[in-house]
Amino acid sequence: MPKEKTPKLEVKIEESLFRLTKRPENITEEEVTFHREKMICLACKKGVARINYICPECKALYCINCAEKISKSENKCWVCNEPFEEQKLNDPES
Ligand SMILES: [Zn+2]
Ligand SMILES: [Zn+2]
Repeated sequence: MPKEKTPKLEVKIEESLFRLTKRPENITEEEVTFHREKMICLACKKGVARINYICPECKALYCINCAEKISKSENKCWVCNEPFEEQKLNDPES
């Protein structure tokens, strides 16, 4: 009896979950403050359980997934273009 192959839906869901939304043209200071106060990642607009990465320059909040992705690609803050700090990414608590 041939084994039924179930489509790998999980992979697709995971990919779309972690796909970055396109960088907006500009982000206002109000938006940065709003996202930080509500603990919402500025990049993927998802709730952040705890503070993962805050830009030292403009205080924009990013979840660790987005912070890692951005640091590996454009490596600059979406708001102020400040480069991400590797050290904070590896140990955001310190
Ligand atoms: Zn995010
Ligand atoms: Zn910034």
